[in-house]
Amino acid sequence: MTPAPTTNFQLQPGTQAFLDGGPKQLLIGGEWVAAADGATFATLNPATGAALVDVALAGAADVDRAVTAARAAFEGQAWAGLTGAERGNLLWKVADLLEKYADELAELETLDNGKPLRAARHGDLPMAVRHFRYYAGWAGKLEGTTIPVSHPNQFVYTLREPMGVVGLIIPWNFPLLMAAWKLAPALACGNTALLKPAEETPLTALRLGEIMLEAGIPAGVVNILTGPGLPTGAAISAHPGIDKVAFTGSTDVGRKIMAAAAQSNLKRVSLELGGKSPNVIFADADLDKAIKGALWAVFSTSGQECVAGTRLFVERPAYDAVVEGLAAQAQRIRVGPGFAPKVHIGPMVSDKQLQTVLGYIESGRTAGATIVAGGERIGGDLAEGYFMQPTIFTHSDDSLKLVQEEIFGPVAAVTAFDDWDELVQRANSTRYGLAAGAWTRDLSKAHRFARAVKAGTVWINTYGLFDAAAPFGGYKESGFGREMGAEALDLYTQTKTVWIGL
Ligand code: NDP
Repeated sequence: MTPAPTTNFQLQPGTQAFLDGGPKQLLIGGEWVAAADGATFATLNPATGAALVDVALAGAADVDRAVTAARAAFEGQAWAGLTGAERGNLLWKVADLLEKYADELAELETLDNGKPLRAARHGDLPMAVRHFRYYAGWAGKLEGTTIPVSHPNQFVYTLREPMGVVGLIIPWNFPLLMAAWKLAPALACGNTALLKPAEETPLTALRLGEIMLEAGIPAGVVNILTGPGLPTGAAISAHPGIDKVAFTGSTDVGRKIMAAAAQSNLKRVSLELGGKSPNVIFADADLDKAIKGALWAVFSTSGQECVAGTRLFVERPAYDAVVEGLAAQAQRIRVGPGFAPKVHIGPMVSDKQLQTVLGYIESGRTAGATIVAGGERIGGDLAEGYFMQPTIFTHSDDSLKLVQEEIFGPVAAVTAFDDWDELVQRANSTRYGLAAGAWTRDLSKAHRFARAVKAGTVWINTYGLFDAAAPFGGYKESGFGREMGAEALDLYTQTKTVWIGL
């Protein structure tokens, strides 16, 4: 691990103006308003621990106001009266504006989340744009079917209709991109929305709210409610006026959201939850590529990714070489503030997340796992921020806490395996099933692995790629429902069957 130098980065004038514009308010019914009780909270820069700006903290009364605004917008002609193609045009304009303001949005993301500016500008931003364009294309193509039935003289067809008012609750690791993952298909399908960003990273969602208005999305169609899980998120998941909640975050909160949905109005729920993904290096793999790929599978975004390939299985003959290669390359990863030149990874998003990661490392040490790289918080110039060394453990005990639980930090657990049956059994020995990876030159082995592993996405000889067109979601306790691709349209529409007696 090489600490990257700190930097005095000059922000874009637009970014500075946004920060200097005073406390950030809620977007409700097309207006920027303070929370009903005037509550605010500070959002922090994780690279320095310093406060960036105060943000309104939405309570139950604000959620209620937003639901009323979203319902009125859902029923009003300004939105319900649009054709799908017209909704698509508006989403396309949102994408154009995201491109226009990409430099500022990327800076806000780096300030609020800590990720390297390069990752925000050349990863998150283009992907968010692509989501709006992809679903702009779908908005005019939401077709039903005609159905041959066994009754004579009946004409039966289906319509795909929007759910209504949807609540979108998102985490802090890809703040703008997660908003795009959910808002783009929700709006393409004709819903109206309440978006709750994570309390750690509200800024790009708020800026996106401004962009929505500038693009001409009618008032009340998108409402932005900043605040913590309690009370803001909980008020959304329990509100009887919300028809569906789409959530990305931890499995524990996913359970709470399902319970709240069950106890309120049986609102529809889709959940994209945690992961503890197996990544497998077979001895026949291109080991140089596999080692690089495995490092990025776990350390990208400082390990704060639901798909992080944190359980690395290496076939015994390649094990020593792989561990040696991983340990050597982990030392070369440049950790530092997101605005520093050439930085590879930034800080943990918060002190809380840093402490969680340190707790897992301690648990691994105590349980006798071996650290071959990292293991410490980074001090020196970076001591004010929440920086962690990329950390690699080796172990031979899958029951360890650090092997079983989602850490959401730069911590890899590497182990050796000897044969296929053992590998499949161990790879699947987790309550999660979000993603998996394998590195091999043997095509048949690659396909067999893809079938054997219980995961919603499998990457072979690559890792962590996403596209708006490729469905993504979990098996087992990693959740249900598929975001992206045509399948995401199912999350935001319901089918109406119409019978006509001829
Ligand atoms: P959470 O699951 O708590 O947060 C995700 C979102 O849910 C945030 O907007 C959060 O609000 C909100 N939320 C929290 N509690 C409730 C509630 N009772 N009702 C409705 N919404 C709620 O994740 P954390 O940020 O606490 O991170 C904890 C762990 O979750 C991580 O260490 C990681 O393991 C996992 N995680 C997984 C993610 C994934 O992509 N699968 C993403 C993020 C985290 P707020 O943060 O404002 O309190």
